[in-house]
Amino acid sequence: AEEMLIRSEKMSIAGQLAAGIAHEIRNPLTSLKGFVQLLQGGITNKDEYYKIMMDEIDKINAITSELLFISKPMTDEKCNENVQIMLQDVIILLRTQANLYDIDLVLEVQGDYMVHCDKSQLKQVFINLIKNAIEEMANGGMIHVQVYRNGQECVISIADQGPGIPKHLIHKLKEPFFTTKKNGTGLGLMISNQIIDNHNGRLEIKSENGKGSTFSICLPFSED
Ligand code: ADP
Ligand code: MG
Repeated sequence: AEEMLIRSEKMSIAGQLAAGIAHEIRNPLTSLKGFVQLLQGGITNKDEYYKIMMDEIDKINAITSELLFISKPMTDEKCNENVQIMLQDVIILLRTQANLYDIDLVLEVQGDYMVHCDKSQLKQVFINLIKNAIEEMANGGMIHVQVYRNGQECVISIADQGPGIPKHLIHKLKEPFFTTKKNGTGLGLMISNQIIDNHNGRLEIKSENGKGSTFSICLPFSED
């Protein structure tokens, strides 16, 4: 019975996702159709319309790329991996973007920690969370990435100095398509949460209005 329950819950998540996708893609498509009709009618301010149309196409593009990532078969290629090295690899990729906004990306590791994980999946989580932090800090500041032990868990925390998240919205962040960004997809945290679940871990979100937010990935240590 419990298995049935889990199964039906999974189905409803898939159903919820499908409905969301249809909606998220139909909106920009409807808008694109309208602009094509206007252009057919022959209008003068074409450039302005092309710009809006490009934005809509970009939005559809962003959604489909993230969906392609989710629909990839979950190759379970878990090995014992060094957390510090994975973070260093990711930070190299994101440093240019951080510099552009005057953001200091600081990595502080308290030990040589190994976790049993799929390296590419976990790197995707680190990228999603650090990118979100960067996107909240248009005026610069520091993003503090820490790795430490908490009992039986390895914790990777990403703390930003952004505006923080209002309390009543925190529970919404992991829902698909929740976004407060003009060109956001609202899929990054849902995917990250799913990957962390698949590693028997947890994603904790703490935030203080005006002071910033901390996203903590808690993963079980490798047993060996
Ligand atoms: P997206 O980045 O495309 O909006 P995400 O799933 O990555 O989608 O994030 C969902 C929403 O959660 C964001 O639009 C933003 O409102 C909020 N959020 C995520 N990370 C942070 C953060 N570090 N600080 C404040 N808000 C955040
Ligand atoms: Mg994001």
